[in-house]
Parts: sequence; structure tokens; C-alpha cells
Amino acid sequence: MENYIVSARKYRPSTFDSVIGQRALTTTLKNAIVSGKLAHAYLFCGPRGVGKTTCARIFAKTINCQHLSADGEACNECESCMAFNEQRSYNIFELDAASNNSVDDIRNLIEEVRIPPQIGKYKVYIIDEVHMLSAAAFNAFLKTLEEPPKHAIFILATTEKHKLLPTILSRCQIYDFNRIGVNDIIEHLQYVAAKEGVKAEPDALMVIAQKADGGMRDALSIFDQVVSFTQGNITYKSAIDNLNVLDYEYYFQLTDMLLTNKVSDALLLFNTVLQKGFDGNHFITGLASHFRDLLVSKDASTLSLLEVSGDVKSKYRNQAQNCSPRFLFKAMKLCNDCDLNYRTSKNKRLLVELTLIECAQLTAPNDDVAEGHSPKIKPTFQQTTTQPSSQATAKPVAPAKPAAAPKATNTNVAKQPATPKSNPFPEEKKQTPTIQTVRLSDTSIKRIHQKSQGETAASEKTQPTAAEQTITNKPFSEADLDLAWREYAAALPVERKADAQRMMAIRPKLLDDNKFQIVVYNQLAAESMQSLSASIEESLHKKLQNSQVKMQIHVNEASEEKRAFTASEKLEVMLDKNNNLKKLQKKLGLELA
Ligand SMILES: [Zn+2]
Repeated sequence: MENYIVSARKYRPSTFDSVIGQRALTTTLKNAIVSGKLAHAYLFCGPRGVGKTTCARIFAKTINCQHLSADGEACNECESCMAFNEQRSYNIFELDAASNNSVDDIRNLIEEVRIPPQIGKYKVYIIDEVHMLSAAAFNAFLKTLEEPPKHAIFILATTEKHKLLPTILSRCQIYDFNRIGVNDIIEHLQYVAAKEGVKAEPDALMVIAQKADGGMRDALSIFDQVVSFTQGNITYKSAIDNLNVLDYEYYFQLTDMLLTNKVSDALLLFNTVLQKGFDGNHFITGLASHFRDLLVSKDASTLSLLEVSGDVKSKYRNQAQNCSPRFLFKAMKLCNDCDLNYRTSKNKRLLVELTLIECAQLTAPNDDVAEGHSPKIKPTFQQTTTQPSSQATAKPVAPAKPAAAPKATNTNVAKQPATPKSNPFPEEKKQTPTIQTVRLSDTSIKRIHQKSQGETAASEKTQPTAAEQTITNKPFSEADLDLAWREYAAALPVERKADAQRMMAIRPKLLDDNKFQIVVYNQLAAESMQSLSASIEESLHKKLQNSQVKMQIHVNEASEEKRAFTASEKLEVMLDKNNNLKKLQKKLGLELA
């Protein structure tokens, strides 16, 4: 361990050709040097650790080299090159604007710029993190940038181009550095590993490369960390343990389970992942990426978008054969929705579990052909009564004929309060009640909910999870209900702000032990609440620890006291009340912006 040098420094490229992953850019720079067309100011932009400062240093060395090669590389042998390589050249100045960003720092630099070089042709000034310069320092610098001495070349580097003044941008030749591809990083890590006598599995290097997210410096420091952790023998297992990365094997297994509708297995696998200390959100975004990788593996033309090493690539290709594009699109969408709702969800685990169940049912055959897929959670469309559709997940349910009788397989269902078996309002006719109590069955609520999301019949199978079945049926008061109701409204995402406001204005009224009623004043509001009802009930079951809580929506158009929520509704109310306002609006042709 004596004289240990971190790999990022030890293997810093010293020629343009050895810079990884920026080929187009280094070629342009070399051509400029060979043709002698040098600008006075360059701006190197791009994420951290992709080679901006390294290229700036190589550039400085190369333009001062006395025996430039034909293709524009430094010789690394002349006096100037030696001075650069030994870091004793006077022709290069580096200023880190992150820590030296005052006017005085810039003034010192400007003083320095005036002095011509003793040896070589150019002095190169590298200003790193140039966006960090204070406004005053920027202004002081601008003059020098406008009229620099012949021998001065500025290379400004930044990770945040948008923070630079247009006056600076317009005076620079701009080079945008890319994030470095996973395969490029793997290749370089293999090179470093070989040089260092480190044994490393390709899959392990892939994990490191993915973790580095396009930055070579990060990749090398992660590499160093794993090397010291594993004493120079990097296996895939040791890498994922050390870097707290979830094994991709889980995603392959899970996808197989989802494709074969094995809901229970999927939930158990998720449980294992949680027990290993991984976060649900991390898990679901990883799953989404997995689906995405499968999708790009399906088509030879997009295969290049798959950034994994050789062995895993064929695994992806094999699994992709079993997935229909439709399954992948839908599953990606479901995972993405889950990710978006994750932060605001009160029951994050349930959210992920629901997503897994929905994914597992994407390829489920229709009810009447469901033979052989026993652990599937069955939908309860046929039941127009109020069964809370909580068939056990663990217990295989015999495949149902379309007109199957209610499957009371669990005590929860048996305890259900008696409700009229014949629903006075068949589902299809429930759309246009004026003054009547809409009694929606659990299933029809779900159906409406899903219709509103434009879902197809294939996914009309959302069911409560195992978690929901363990809920006891606790008694609750109207105040408890009111609180839970408001909590739900408050947690709605921004795009449902109108619903949240409407819910805040409603006071749920308890009808009996479990049933409550809300009153809305028009059909639109009723439909909107209906679309939320499944989700509301689900949340209330959880919050009140009572799985029998049911919501009734009562539409009372006759006694509607106008409640204005949106701007146009408010305007309508105002126009109704004030005739002059109506005239004014007409005369001037006003309308809401
Ligand atoms: Zn040289």
C-alpha cells in the first residue's frame, strides 16, 4: 500500500487518444491544433468526471509541444512535454473558481496573463467551475476575455452552462462533453484491473459502471473502494454487496413470475427485497428500467441502447422473447405511475404491491379460460352486491365461470352486513341519476375508476392485497371518519387539486356502523367522486382499520347551492348575481384567460 495513488489520478489520460468516450470532441481539438486554428477561449461543458479538466491539460501540453505528431498528439518527450508531465510547467495555470471566486482572485489571474511564456508558445489558463465566479469577478474577467494577449488561451470548464452570462458564452468556442457510456467505462476498468493485477468479473465492472452514471472519475474511485473491500478479487456478488445494489437476478425472476401471473410469488419476492434493506421506490424504478431494457432487447435496431455486459445481454434477449411489447409498455407505465405516486402515498408498500399485482395480471387470460393459473386473484365483476372482493391471495381459487356465485372464501366476507342482493340500479344505468342515492357496488366503482383511466378489460382486475385482509374491523366515529377523509384529500397529488378542494368542502355523514354518505350537488362532481371512490375506500380501510367502510354518493341537484370552485364557475356565479357585469363582459368581449 506504500505510495498508493488513486486510480483516477494514476490512470489519468495523457494523450487525446487515451481519453475515454469523447472521441468526436478530441478529434476536433486535434484538428484545430494541427491546422493551427486556435481560439482564445474555449468552454468545456458537461457532467462531473467526464474528462473536461483532463482534456484541458492535454490541450495545454499539446499546443506547447515542440515535436507535435502528424495527427496532433503531444510527443511526451520534448522539454515542454516533460515539464507538463512532471507538473512543473509554467505555461499552465489552473484556477478553481469554486474556492477562488472573488474579484481579487481574478485580478491576480489577469496580472499573470500579461506575462508572456518563457518557453513554448502559449500559456493556458484553466478556470474550473467557472459558473461559480462572483458577478464582479465575471465583469473583471470579461475585459481580458475580449482582448486577450496573443499567447493566452483560456479554457473555462463548467458543469452548469446555463449559469454563464451570454457575454461569456458568445466569446468562447463551446465543447459539450458527454456522459461516458457504460461499455466504455467497463472497458477502461478492465484495462486498469489488468494493470493493477486485480481479478474482476465483467458483471461486477458493469455494476460499478452503472453506479458511476457516466463519470469516469467516479467509476475509478468506486473501483478503488471495491478493490480494497475485496482484496483484489472483485466478484459480482461482492460488488453488489459493497455498493448496495439490488441483484438484477431478482428482476429476471420477478418478470418470469409476472408473465405467468404468479401474484403470490411476486409479493414474496418483494418482501425478500424489502428485508434485505432495499427501498420500495428504488425497487420499482429498477423494475421499470428492467422492462425498458427488455423492450430495447426485442429489436435489433435498439439493442445498442442496452448498456450491459455480454452475458447479461443474452439473458435480456432471452427473456424479451417471452414478453409481448404490449405487456412491456403496460408494465412500464404501471411502474412509472407507482414511482410518481410513491412520495405522496401513505402506504408505500401497498402501492408497490398493487403495482406488482396489476403487472402480474396483464397477461392473465380471460376468466373463462383461466384454467391452470391457480394463484390468481380473481375479479368480482359479477357480484352486484357489496362484497369487498377480498378473496385470499394465498389460497388457490378455482377458476370462475363468468356467472360464478360470490366466492365467500374468507371470514371477512362472511361478516359482511346483509345488503340487498338485487341491486335496484344495474350498473349500466347508474350514469344519470338526478336526485337519488347512488349505491355503487365495490366492483362497479372499480370498473368506473378504471374506465376513467382508459384501462382495457385485461387489467380490470385490481384487487386488494394480502395486507388488506389482515385489517380488523374497528368501530370508528364520524370525527375519525372526517379526519381520515381530510387526510386523504390533503394527500392527493397536485393534478387532482380540484378533487381535493371538493373533498375538503364535503362532510362525510355516517349512516350506520360502516356506511357513510357524501352529498354532491351535480353529476359532474358525482362522477369525479366515483372515480376516486375505490381509492378513497381503500385508504379509509387502512386509516380506520376497518375493511367494511363503504361510501355512498348522494346527488342532490335540486337543492344545489351553487358552489363555485373553478375560475369559470366563480365567474358564472358572479354573472348570475350581477347583470351589469354581464353587460360589461359582453361589451368588451371579455373572457377568462
Ligand atoms: Zn512534446
